[in-house]
Amino acid sequence: MPVREFLETMASRTRDALRREAERLLQAAGATHEPVSLRDVVSALNLSLVEAEREPFSCEAALAPLGDGFAVSVRSNGGERRRRFSIAHEIGHFVLHPGQARYERGGVVNEAMRAREREANAFAAELLMPEHLVRQAVLEDGADARRLADRFEVSVAAMSLRLRRLGLAERQSELLPPSRQVL
Ligand SMILES: [Zn+2]
Repeated sequence: MPVREFLETMASRTRDALRREAERLLQAAGATHEPVSLRDVVSALNLSLVEAEREPFSCEAALAPLGDGFAVSVRSNGGERRRRFSIAHEIGHFVLHPGQARYERGGVVNEAMRAREREANAFAAELLMPEHLVRQAVLEDGADARRLADRFEVSVAAMSLRLRRLGLAERQSELLPPSRQVL
């Protein structure tokens, strides 16, 4: 394994650790079914959710200081499912990277930042598509990424990737090609 990849692995939490963190949070928020209520998750963390018009080229959501705490500020004019993923991503930063609040402005410039972005994305997937709920839904509904995306209120791309990661993708050929930095 190239040194760089090895270091990346070391810097990142394991999937299991991320899943446990997300499950703990879902439990605290009383979010036991899909679609996961991000309002409940946000209030369990004492965060605020603020809608703001963001500049067209800035990112969908960001963590911003508000009073004594933080708010997830989210663009009011984005697609709903994308917004949900962006909010969940910011919640990931808040939970996983305290004291490193970034405002998603400066772009990703080094390996440590890239690792944090990957972690926040993986956390968002665990939060919006908890493994046990996805498995249950697949039992009931089949592994149809489109239908499951509706059920969990996530993008089809996010659900396709999730099904693949969980080894639940039925018809690989119909799913989207592997994406790099998801969604
Ligand atoms: Zn981020």
